[in-house]
Amino acid sequence: MTILIRGASLNGVVKDIYIKDNIIKSIEDSIDLHAEIVVPGAGKAVIPSLVNGHTHAAMTLLRGYADDMHLQEWLEQKIWVLEAKMTEGDIYWGAKLACLEMIKTGTTFFNDMYWFWRGTASAVEEMGIRAAISAVFIDFFDKRKATEQKALNEELFAESKRFSDRIHFTLGPHAIYTVSEESLKWAADFAGKNDLLLHIHMSETKREVDDCIEKKGVEPVKYLEKIGFLGPNVIACHSVWLSQEEIRILGRHDVKVVHNPVSNMKLTVGGTFPYQQLREAHVTTCLGTDGCSSNNNLDMLETMKFASLLQKHHLGDSTALPAREVFEMATSQGAKAFGLNCGRIEVGYLADLALIDLKRPEMTPHFDLHSDLTYAANGSCVDTVICDGKILMTGRKVEGEEEILEGAKRAAFDLLSRASG
Ligand SMILES: [Zn+2]
Repeated sequence: MTILIRGASLNGVVKDIYIKDNIIKSIEDSIDLHAEIVVPGAGKAVIPSLVNGHTHAAMTLLRGYADDMHLQEWLEQKIWVLEAKMTEGDIYWGAKLACLEMIKTGTTFFNDMYWFWRGTASAVEEMGIRAAISAVFIDFFDKRKATEQKALNEELFAESKRFSDRIHFTLGPHAIYTVSEESLKWAADFAGKNDLLLHIHMSETKREVDDCIEKKGVEPVKYLEKIGFLGPNVIACHSVWLSQEEIRILGRHDVKVVHNPVSNMKLTVGGTFPYQQLREAHVTTCLGTDGCSSNNNLDMLETMKFASLLQKHHLGDSTALPAREVFEMATSQGAKAFGLNCGRIEVGYLADLALIDLKRPEMTPHFDLHSDLTYAANGSCVDTVICDGKILMTGRKVEGEEEILEGAKRAAFDLLSRASG
């Protein structure tokens, strides 16, 4: 398959971009090559498609089901009640809806942690985007559960090889307060042997840190370092309650950290992501939306705006986390965190990209692309999305869109009636 993007704005300069198979082969002022598909780029800006560093895709089914509640009541009375009744079919439809929403808002990679791995993987496979998918690993310090979870992860890892290389199997030990030390060590060991990422929630609330100090005598990062869990393959999510010493430890082990500003504010986790200190410690940081029950969308452009404004507000410094840097967190830094050859529009990189419609009110008069994308736009300014050298959306139309909306809606209301019946 060959694609020629004709005359799109790349960093403010009009260029032709030639894609062969799944790779960007050439970027020139004018390219005189035949392509199977020609995409008109006039009035559009080309950007790398966005990387969502942390989500629970199928939670789209719970979008708007329960909001404005205290965290514990919200979990116990609402979320866990529905989750207990979920099936692989529900997860499939929830993940299809999530993929659709991500494509429509310019995202082509997400890092996931949720139940029923196969449901999410099948949805991603069909929708044509990329994902690092973990089966959430929770043992609640129970030996029998731990054995079950290990066996399931081994089985899924073997099975994952049957999927395309857009799907990366990862290990998802949920958090230090839901997974035993023995299982955390097993996960680190299994990940090390099989070259897998480790996806974990870390230092999201003060209570998590206080409990860890009480039980283990040290803060979460120090505890994870002590048991040999930390390394460059660790994707730590939230991490808003970190000491200076813990930040240095993260830097030393090259741990990647994912900031989820919307979820942090909605769930009122209290702490604010220590962006500047992490940057100074050379920690790779990127952005995530978190699941739709704590966000309530998967729009990475909106997350970029929240990330930037939250730093400015918290520090009382309007120069904090500027548009250019927050854009890099959502693109090249995200790609770096997950070891992906994307996040840049350059020859030799994967053809994972989006075209932004510049003929919209919020993109006008258009002095600066990064400013417009961060502060003015939202995901609905994305016109065309290409992933792995295939067109997934043009003119904001995605194939099979209506069927996905209907399927997901049906699954959500069905789930609700099963849970209340
Ligand atoms: Zn999460």
